[in-house]
Amino acid sequence: MGRNLQNKVVLHIGIDDIDSPLGGCTTHLASILVESLDGRFSFKDYPNLIRLNPNIPWKTRGNGAVALRVLVEEDSVSQVVERVLDTVGGYVEEFMHPKRNPCVAFYTSNNVSRSLRWFGVKAIRDVITLDLVKKVVGRNGVKFECYEPGLRGLVGAVAAIGVPLDDCDYTYELLAYRCRENWGKTRLVEDESVFKMDEETRPHTFLNVDWEEKRVLITPRGVDPVLYGIRGEDPGILIKAMKMVKIGEPIERWTIFRSNQGTDMHLQRVPAISSIRVYQSVIVRGKVVSKPMWIKGGHVVFRIGDETGTIDVAAYEPTGLQHIASKLIPGDVIEASGGVRPASSKHDMTINLERLHIIKLAELVEKRNPKCPKCGKTMKSMGRNKGYRCPKCGFRTCKASKIIIVKKRDLETGTYYPRLRAYRHLMKPPTRIGREKRKPPTRIYTPFHGT
Ligand code: ATP
Repeated sequence: MGRNLQNKVVLHIGIDDIDSPLGGCTTHLASILVESLDGRFSFKDYPNLIRLNPNIPWKTRGNGAVALRVLVEEDSVSQVVERVLDTVGGYVEEFMHPKRNPCVAFYTSNNVSRSLRWFGVKAIRDVITLDLVKKVVGRNGVKFECYEPGLRGLVGAVAAIGVPLDDCDYTYELLAYRCRENWGKTRLVEDESVFKMDEETRPHTFLNVDWEEKRVLITPRGVDPVLYGIRGEDPGILIKAMKMVKIGEPIERWTIFRSNQGTDMHLQRVPAISSIRVYQSVIVRGKVVSKPMWIKGGHVVFRIGDETGTIDVAAYEPTGLQHIASKLIPGDVIEASGGVRPASSKHDMTINLERLHIIKLAELVEKRNPKCPKCGKTMKSMGRNKGYRCPKCGFRTCKASKIIIVKKRDLETGTYYPRLRAYRHLMKPPTRIGREKRKPPTRIYTPFHGT
């Protein structure tokens, strides 16, 4: 960003694992920090909301972590760190829960190092061990504070620092937070106003409404302090959208985050089925090798293979992809995108389908018995290699053979996307195709947060 960096350094502050069943959330704490720092210090970027590996089993919700990037005089770094630790400490104490491992990490540098960037992308696509995070922290001089014994939260805090969103696609999300006394109560957001907002701001905003069910998608559930989150392509459209959404309760604060949401950053193309690892999100090409099977719950499972092996693919009912998947036949060539679930006693390692690309359809052939040349009735087989006999006129022949009929497939090649309500944070909605950004923003929109 075009800011004067003279005498100043960028202090990157990563936070994660703040949310607890008792309330609170990582982005909410980030918003409080933004408010307490803005004015006294300037921001190099919007707060970055980085969604990490969506397949991590120990995540609570969307596996989100936040990085703040503040421009500070070199001799003020410790003052800012102290201020942040004060705020984080107070917040964390209030919502302390044994299952959480809140962490905050600090890294001072005008550029994010290559090893931190590598770590950040790995945390989005893979599973990180605590040994690895310790190594990366040591190598980069990252300072940190964890508020429970254990370092799990440090993974997300450091990973968020390592994804500065300066060499990849990104989106924005405006998060509006509820006043404390309303946490846990029904969210008073007027559906009709969200429908209107969607109609007027789409496709510059996305995932507001699932029109199939006329369901509002911007409001989360539960004790989460978030009242709603509007996602979009630029901050201006989000402010416009916020003004359009009618609510029946006060907003405590709102903040615009820059994010890897809606970018498909989690997906990695793998060259062969044998190279797929659990908890990754992959794009893999293969040939359908089994007939799709409907299973309990309305899901469809089929198997694909290549020269290196085979793997199951599951199209879950909420995605709506099961109907398309059920029409596949052995021989079809597809590309499956999705998260990889480990094998269990009930099933093999499975790709949970998030997008289905049908590349080539196999011929669907039906073999029928030949017609009798004398009376036209369909003949009956007299057994393997024993010829056919007409059940009407008794005519027998060894010369006839089965008639091959190529049937029309009730399926077309192309890309099939899930229903909007089944979208997870990192998945790119089709309306974003062609809107991908290549360069970071050159300035920060004001205001990007408020109360
Ligand atoms: P949100 O903040 O959106 O509610 P969440 O609640 O789903 O996110 P967290 O509470 O942040 O998830 O918990 C996820 C935990 O997993 C954190 O401790 C984080 O450090 C850790 N984690 C995240 N990504 C990875 C990864 N790739 N490998 C190992 N651990 C990870």
